[in-house]
Amino acid sequence: MENAKQKDIYGRCYCGSVRFSIAAGTKPHWAGYCHCKDCRQANAAPLYQYIYVKKQYFQIIEGKQLLRWYTRADPNINNLKRFFCERCGSKVFNSVTAKKADRDVELCGTFPSLFDDPVIATSATWSPRMHVHSDQSFMDLSLLQDDLPRH
Ligand SMILES: [Zn+2]
Ligand SMILES: [Zn+2]
Repeated sequence: MENAKQKDIYGRCYCGSVRFSIAAGTKPHWAGYCHCKDCRQANAAPLYQYIYVKKQYFQIIEGKQLLRWYTRADPNINNLKRFFCERCGSKVFNSVTAKKADRDVELCGTFPSLFDDPVIATSATWSPRMHVHSDQSFMDLSLLQDDLPRH
């Protein structure tokens, strides 16, 4: 029954020119908070809430021509590209190649904070399951009242 009610998820950049969708029924490959310096600086935020899905479930449906990307990461490691809207500067998604059992998995990562529907954005499916790069945190993590594992 739960599945029958699921709809595509929509999101947009700050100015709304770039819009994306995630196919109904998609489950996140990764969902968490990243504390690494790269993510903090790329997003000008003390931490960064991400969800990654398989590339085939993520689509840019409007404003593709406004997308630009930048990364300072080593492209040989996971080919990370951080895409943003050239009009408003808002991050839209990251593309990354992850290794899984020696196979390459193409993933797109975006941000529940961009979802149009805050109820979906904060639902259990898209909620963070872990903190990563906690050792690089900019915050006092003891102030966060959650039981999520910290890596
Ligand atoms: Zn924009
Ligand atoms: Zn990070």
